[in-house]
Amino acid sequence: MPAFWSEPDWDEHERVEVVHDRASGLTAIIALHSTHLGPAAGGTRFWHYEDPEKGMRDALRLSRGMSYKNAMAGLPIGGGKAVVLLDKDRTKTEAMLHAFGDAVEALDGRYVTAEDVGATEADMVAIHTRTEHVCGLPADEGDAGGDPGPFTAMGIYHGIKAAVAHKLGTESMKGVRVALQGCGSVGGGVARLLAKDGAELTLADIDDKRAAAMAQELGGTAVSADQIMGVACDVFSPNALGAILDEEGIARLDCAIVAGGANNQLARPLHGQQLHDRGILYAPDYVINAGGIINVSYEYLCRREGTPCDINEVRKRIARIPGRLGEIWSESDASGKPSNEVADAMAQALIGR
Ligand code: NAD
Repeated sequence: MPAFWSEPDWDEHERVEVVHDRASGLTAIIALHSTHLGPAAGGTRFWHYEDPEKGMRDALRLSRGMSYKNAMAGLPIGGGKAVVLLDKDRTKTEAMLHAFGDAVEALDGRYVTAEDVGATEADMVAIHTRTEHVCGLPADEGDAGGDPGPFTAMGIYHGIKAAVAHKLGTESMKGVRVALQGCGSVGGGVARLLAKDGAELTLADIDDKRAAAMAQELGGTAVSADQIMGVACDVFSPNALGAILDEEGIARLDCAIVAGGANNQLARPLHGQQLHDRGILYAPDYVINAGGIINVSYEYLCRREGTPCDINEVRKRIARIPGRLGEIWSESDASGKPSNEVADAMAQALIGR
C-alpha cells in the first residue's frame, strides 16, 4: 500500500493487517498505531464502506485516535482499531465473528478489541470464544466491563459541564441549550444525564423517530438531521459519525462550545484552528470520550491480572476527564494555540512520538 505510506493518516503505524477469511466472508483491517504504553487497544467497527480505501482510512485515523485517547486517559495501553468491512445489508454472522476472533488471537495480545459502531456485547462474547484479548464483555453487577457506551456518555457529561464552566462561567446546566447530533448509545446517554440537570435539549438523528421519541421522553425538541448543526445553542454535541467539522460544518455552527463523543470530529487538524478563530471552545474528542475505554480496559487488565474489578474505580477515573480538559484549555488560553493542537502535543509526548 505505498499510497498510504506517504499520507498523513498513515502516521507511522506499527502494524496494519488486512485479514480475509474465505469460508466466512470476513474482510477486516486491524491497525496498530502504537504499543509504546502497552497492548494496542480499541474497538472494532462493523460498517459498510462503498470503497475499501475509506475503510482503511477510517481504521488508520481511528487507531491513531486510540493511541492519543488511551495515553491522555493515563491508561497503560497503546492504541489500535479494527474495521470489519460489511456488505450493503451489513450482514454479520457468527462465523465472521469467530474468524475475526482468530485474527485477534494470532496477534498474541498485541491488540485488544472491544465494541465500536455496529458491534454489541453479544458480538464480543462470540469473539471471546476464540481469544482472551477482548473486552466489553457482559459484567456482573458492581464490576467494570459491559457496553462502554454509558461510560463514554458519563465522561462526556462531565466534560460538557467543565466546558460550560470554563466558557460560560456557570456551574449549573439549568437552561443551558445543548444541541445533540445522534441519539444512540452515547448521545442518548448524554441527553438523559443533561436532562436531569435541566439542560434545554435539541435532538437529531438520521433515524427521525428515534430523535422524536427521545425528545418526548426528555422534554426536548427534535429537529431533522440536516438542521442540527445550525441550531442556535450554547453547546453543540456531536455523537454520531466523524469528520463533521469541516469548513462548511464549522460555518454553520451557532454555538459557544463543541463537546461530544464522536471520534475524529475534525475533518483535518486545521479545522481546530478554524473553531478557535471563531471563538468556539472545542473539547478534543479523544479526551472527552475516553469513558468507555477507561471502563473496558480496566475490565481487561483486572481479568488478566486476576484482581477485583470495582466499577467505582472506573467512575473515579472517568471523573478525571474534566481536569485533563481543563489543563488543555488553560494551555490553549495561555499559548493562543487551538485546543486540538495542545492535546495532540501532550498525547504525542506521552507515546514518544
Ligand atoms: P450508535 O450506533 O449507538 O449511535 C449512533 C447514532 O447516530 C445512531 O442513532 C445513528 O442513527 C445516528 N446517526 C448516524 N449518522 C447520523 C447523522 N449524520 N446525523 C444524525 N444522527 C446520525 O453509536 P454510539 O456507540 O452512540 O457512538 C456514537 C459515536 O461515538 C461514534 O462516532 C463512536 O465512534 C463514538 N464513540 C463511541 C464510544 C462508545 O463507547 N460507544 C466510545 C467512544 C467514541
